[in-house]
Order: sequence, then C-alpha cells, then structure tokens
Amino acid sequence: MRICRFDDDRLGLVEGAEVVDVTPALEAIAARRWPLAPGDALIANFDAVLERARALAPRAPRRALAEVRLRAPLANPSKIVNAPINYQAHIDESKRDQGIAHGREIKSIGDWGLFLKSPSSLVGPGEPIRLRFPERRNDHEVELAVVIGRTANRVRREDALACVLGYAIGLDMTLRGPEFPSFRKSIDTYSVLGPWLVTRDEIPDPNQLGLWLTVNGEPRQRSNTRHMVYGVERLIEYAASFYTLYPGDLIFTGTPEGVGPVRPGDEIRAGIEGIGEFAIRVAPEYAG
Ligand code: MN
Repeated sequence: MRICRFDDDRLGLVEGAEVVDVTPALEAIAARRWPLAPGDALIANFDAVLERARALAPRAPRRALAEVRLRAPLANPSKIVNAPINYQAHIDESKRDQGIAHGREIKSIGDWGLFLKSPSSLVGPGEPIRLRFPERRNDHEVELAVVIGRTANRVRREDALACVLGYAIGLDMTLRGPEFPSFRKSIDTYSVLGPWLVTRDEIPDPNQLGLWLTVNGEPRQRSNTRHMVYGVERLIEYAASFYTLYPGDLIFTGTPEGVGPVRPGDEIRAGIEGIGEFAIRVAPEYAG
C-alpha cells in the first residue's frame, strides 16, 4: 500500500500513475485536546484511517499523480532521528574532503551516536528546497527513511522491524560547516520526505535496496542499503535505547558516497528500489 499527502493536505492511495482521493478517511482520527500526545496523529490512527480509506476507494475521485503536488506523507513527527556516517564509502570521502569534515575527526556511528533534526524542517517533493547562506556549501544526501508505527522503547534488534509502519525516500539536506549537525541540518525545508509512504509489507528487506540521486540529470549518488554500517534493525535498537520512539517518528538511515553541492534552480531526482522516485526543485533564489 502506498499512501500520500497531496495538494491542500489531502490523503491519497497511490495506484499506478493515479491518486485515489480518500481524504474523508481522515475523520477516523480521534478528536484530540491539548496537550497532544507526542507523534503524528495519522500514523497513530493508521489502521482505522486505512480501513475507512479502503471502503471509500471504489467510489473515490481519482487524479493523475503528475497533476498533484506531493507533500511529506506525514506532518508531525516528534523526532527526525538521523544516522551520521553510516556507509563506509561516505566515511572515506568525508575523511578526504575538508569541505565535509571541517576539521572534525571522522570516527564511527558507534562513537558519534545519532542526531536529531527539527521536525519543522520537513517538506515534501512538491515544495521547493529553500537554500540559505549562498557563500557556503549546501549538499544533498539521499537516505532510506524509516517511519516508526508504534511507541517503542528499549527495542531488541530482532523485534525492531515490527515497530516499522513503512518507508519513504529521505533527503537530508545539509549546510556544511563547523556547527553541530542538528543546527546546520534543521533549516526550514532541509528534510524532504516522499514521494509517498510504502507500507512495510511491500519491502521484505530494507537492508537490500538500491538508492540513487541525480542533480540536473547528472549522476551523483548510487549505492545499496546493504552497505549500511548499522542496518535498519540496529538503528532502531540504538535509537530506542536512548529515547522513546513515537508513531510517525522518522529515522533517516544515513547517506552513501557521492554527496555534493546544489545551487538555486537545480533539480534533484532521487529514487529507492521498491519505493519509487521523485523530483524536487531547489528554489531559484536563496531564502531571505
Ligand atoms: Mn545524512
């Protein structure tokens, strides 16, 4: 099952080149009052919403995928958890390139741990990336994004995939520089999620997926999640050993080699086997 958010927060089931508009299924989300429970309400109520969506689908309006504006498939993650240096070839290029390392000693994910990006940095592929700081390097990083489906704390590796609702393509846009990663990478629009959410049942092994990225048609990144230092299960175990994961929390699993700069007006295309692909524009001017 492929679920998307499109246009003005409409909910869609993706079938081939079409979107089935099942927006009324969102009424299955229970009314909430302050303080809201942490996490994304769509993901926390996913089974009820999906049941309603399936009932609506046969008579629901359909739109061509090419005509809708895709948004991030979920809106309110409590955390965007990120794996740094999780592919050996990216670790190697980071050691060679001071434009990436900025004087830091590149160690290992086990030494560095994970870092968080602000949820307010999240957009979908139908919205432009708005670069800041024209004098500095802004890089693309394509990553498998894991969507957590249930509250999880201290999860054993062998139970980790049961906590996953599904997967999407993540772009961890990155301002290079000396600041801490969570600061540099939390700029508005610097976390892209799309084109839709693919449920876990469609991805038998998330640690065996090809992934790639091009800029203006030029190949930049091409690898496979089998090269991750920490696989998906170990990343979930690692994250949940420090903090509770909530429905809709995202884990960006790290980027392979080939990271590089983008400029205003560029078009980034990214794809992951079993999920799909998207194109996203870098806005023609730097954000004011
Ligand atoms: Mn990254």
